[in-house]
Amino acid sequence: MKALVYTGPRTVEVRDIPKPQPNAGEILLKIRYCGVCGTDIGIFGGTHPRATAPLTLGHELVGEVVDGSDRFAAGQRVVAYPLLSCGTCHACRTGQPHVCDSLRLLGIDMEGGMAEYLAVPEDMLFAIPDDLSDQIAALVEPMAVAQRAVEQSGLRLSDRATILGAGPIGLLVALAARQAGAAKIIVSDIDPFRLSLAASFGFTTVDLRNQDLTEKILAETNGDGADVVFECAGAEAAARDMTRVTRSGGTICLASLHKAPSPVALLDIAFKELRLIGSRVYTKEQFQRSIELASTLADDLEQLITRTLSLSAASSAFGHVSDLHKNDVKVLINCKE
Ligand SMILES: [Zn+2]
Ligand SMILES: [Zn+2]
Repeated sequence: MKALVYTGPRTVEVRDIPKPQPNAGEILLKIRYCGVCGTDIGIFGGTHPRATAPLTLGHELVGEVVDGSDRFAAGQRVVAYPLLSCGTCHACRTGQPHVCDSLRLLGIDMEGGMAEYLAVPEDMLFAIPDDLSDQIAALVEPMAVAQRAVEQSGLRLSDRATILGAGPIGLLVALAARQAGAAKIIVSDIDPFRLSLAASFGFTTVDLRNQDLTEKILAETNGDGADVVFECAGAEAAARDMTRVTRSGGTICLASLHKAPSPVALLDIAFKELRLIGSRVYTKEQFQRSIELASTLADDLEQLITRTLSLSAASSAFGHVSDLHKNDVKVLINCKE
């Protein structure tokens, strides 16, 4: 079968590899679509600390069950919860397996979904409703990331939210925050296409190339600052700004990955009594609910899919994607072609 294989820094190849044979407790999936995530781009760049070549990429997958089981009929469309936890560390023992000390993911620590087939443990599969398209279902995984971030933040009805970074996660957080009742949503970025997409959803935008973030947020919040700030940029500048634009007593939710330590104004956290909370992936329960959320927001999510590549053409285009091609937000791989 064909698979998109990471073969070394800045190299991915479409390779012919053996079709997986499901072990006991596993289900063979025929993959339909798999989303390209920032993590895949990091692996491609050769900077991911765990991924080792050769590796089939992809953890944002939707597929159909090949051979039926007690739980799933043949042909049933499913999405895969891509996390595997150790079961024995403190987090796992206390009901938080998504922050397991040695958390492993499909497409990072083991073979992933950018392939024609993948064998997945049955208990990681979630059926999707008939009215959810394959393409939108491929966004369930990043939707779940956004859902957890909003729930971790404790966002309340009528809160004024600020989202730093209008990449796929930032825009999904903004959409989820609106769904959760945020009255005002302000999104900042440096990319004009991403900002125009944010504006098309009705969000207030800040173009960091020529607007001052703090000034703009204060102007939009009666001089108070945002009630909740989501850091979705993973940039040092965002870490510096996040405490400044949050109101006294407000919350900052970290939904991005700062690969290196970033300076943070701890004095703001003390003086303004800010709450700083992390958010990492999602629980199974949130993953289940994000299927519902993706259905509800399907029309908006459709706008985030800016490009679809066939599996056979994906390798040549992957480098292109990784260079943050203008006008790309979410790129999907069509694994049927
Ligand atoms: Zn991802
Ligand atoms: Zn564990």
